Amino acid sequence: MGWPVLRKDPSSFRVTPNLTDYAAAHAGSPWHEARSAMTGLPDGAGLNIAHEAVDRHATGPYADRTALRWLGKDGRSEDLTYALLRELTDRFANVLDGLGVGTGERVFLLLGRVPSLYVAALGALKHRSVVSPLFAAFGPEPIRQRLDLGTGRVLVTSRRQYERKVSALRDQLPALEHVLVVDADGEPPAGTLDLEELMAKAAASYVIAPTDPEDPALLHFTSGTTGQPKGALHVHEAVVAHSATARYALDLHPEDVFWCTADPGWVTGTSYGIVAPLTLGVTLVVDEAEYDAVRWYSILEEQRVSVWYTAPTAVRMLMKAGEQPREGRDLSALRFLASVGEPLDPAAVVWSQEAFGTPIHDNWWQTETGAIMVSNFAAIDVRPGSMGLPVPGVEVALVHRTGEGEGEDPALEILDTPEAEGELALRAGWPSMFRDYLGQPERYARCFRDGWYLTGDMARRDADGYLWFVGRTDDVIKSAGHLIGPTEVEGVLTGHEAVVEAGVIGVPDPIAGEVVKAFVSLYPGFEPTEALLRELRGFARSRLGSAVAPREIVVVAALPRTRSGKIMRRLLKARELGLPEGDLSTLEVGPDDGDPRGSAKGDS
Ligand code: ATP
Ligand code: MG
Repeated sequence: MGWPVLRKDPSSFRVTPNLTDYAAAHAGSPWHEARSAMTGLPDGAGLNIAHEAVDRHATGPYADRTALRWLGKDGRSEDLTYALLRELTDRFANVLDGLGVGTGERVFLLLGRVPSLYVAALGALKHRSVVSPLFAAFGPEPIRQRLDLGTGRVLVTSRRQYERKVSALRDQLPALEHVLVVDADGEPPAGTLDLEELMAKAAASYVIAPTDPEDPALLHFTSGTTGQPKGALHVHEAVVAHSATARYALDLHPEDVFWCTADPGWVTGTSYGIVAPLTLGVTLVVDEAEYDAVRWYSILEEQRVSVWYTAPTAVRMLMKAGEQPREGRDLSALRFLASVGEPLDPAAVVWSQEAFGTPIHDNWWQTETGAIMVSNFAAIDVRPGSMGLPVPGVEVALVHRTGEGEGEDPALEILDTPEAEGELALRAGWPSMFRDYLGQPERYARCFRDGWYLTGDMARRDADGYLWFVGRTDDVIKSAGHLIGPTEVEGVLTGHEAVVEAGVIGVPDPIAGEVVKAFVSLYPGFEPTEALLRELRGFARSRLGSAVAPREIVVVAALPRTRSGKIMRRLLKARELGLPEGDLSTLEVGPDDGDPRGSAKGDS
């Protein structure tokens, strides 16, 4: 919609991108190649995520390189080399062995972003338990629900988390046998074990047992944007996609310092905040603290972050914070930026180009896909507002489901004309595809048809193959015979200088069926006057036409969003219509801007 294409000039690349010939890569056998890039367990004993992330480097030339640089919220910091990470994760795997935890049993993590979280996650993967990291900001009920659904046998947590949220639930969680407290200081709360003590006693080396690539590895709960969170189960084979997409879509090279701002309680914070960068020998920055514009810019500067992966909410918050916290900073190390999680407003892409000298590269994926599936790439021009192109190896189609009525045979119509708009489908079988929705096998089966995985998201493909997010199938608005995607309307509204963020829903209308209503929040210095609202309505109408532009625009201080930073349109709608609000376990609560990473708000 009038946004200029941001051209890439190869002479300006500071590092040769991993993916320069997109067509050739896509036409080849990218998954096969990615599989060959893994070392595999010694003696052909299979494929284990933690071996690829840690051990292969700990015994090679990267042994003394910093794997994880942890920045504490109190100013402390800690560096773990690959060699040290190996030792610690070996010890943790031995601790699980010592407790008699079995293969495939679930180890839940309820911690802020502290080193023990990373050690426990990777150690449990070595042990071949299934790891499920939870947001540290969850209250007791969401914790109980997830531990119950996942029959958690082990929980790794902090004293404070345990005492405030978990101890009272113990009798409701009969499967939960071992609670390991990371900061027990020799005095673990009753009913828990002192992890530090167990680690000290455990042997410092561990041999990973044969691991089938199909062995379950990770259990991630979805963000709960559209309803109750689902538990998506992933297998060790996923590491092939983690690693390959980190090379292609995030353009990670071994020399990079990489910062993924997502919390491991969300799939991004595990796939890219733990596993993927380590498989490439990268140095991973982990910040324990909450979002803070000044802190974030100083981390980028001081840590010499070269590749940065964040979320649209965070970007909007930085835009709102203005230039001042960025002024005078040396951000010259930063060469590649990417974001995921919800639509990235075209205005944000353009802002990034001005603020950092490079656009933010939007990419699309889901908890279910385990890894990035559609992306903008370092060597390819960026069309602001587009999610980019399918990752090499990923086959996408836009489809229309038919025959969903009673007594009909469900089928799929593949829409292959340019500018087609339909549900985004992925050819099933990529390595990080989820293998189950825990406890909901029929729901899992319903996601697949004719060999395609149906994502529940609507997209449009332009004549050059770029994909544009339209909206979730649940959020698409049907107004007077038009199908209106909230993303396009929101992208126009945030193109106005006064609007930080916008959430668009359909509200019932006796004539049109539904009409478009927008909720917006404003940049500091703008007041929600009638004149401004009139101007916004006119601004939207002139760009979208009167059939698509919002009939009503309401200014709010902030939009409801999930802890992973997604605008919850279903909640805007429920509140608007006075309907039940549904599952709110992942709603970010707080009077302020919130934290775009769903982090602990002092609760860790
Ligand atoms: P739930 O499935 O519980 O409703 P959720 O779908 O938000 O929650 P996630 O798996 O965390 O849970 O998020 C994936 C979804 O986020 C995608 O299906 C899509 O709707 C949205 N999304 C992710 N990346 C993008 C993007 N780049 N542009 C637009 N939407 C995106
Ligand atoms: Mg979803």
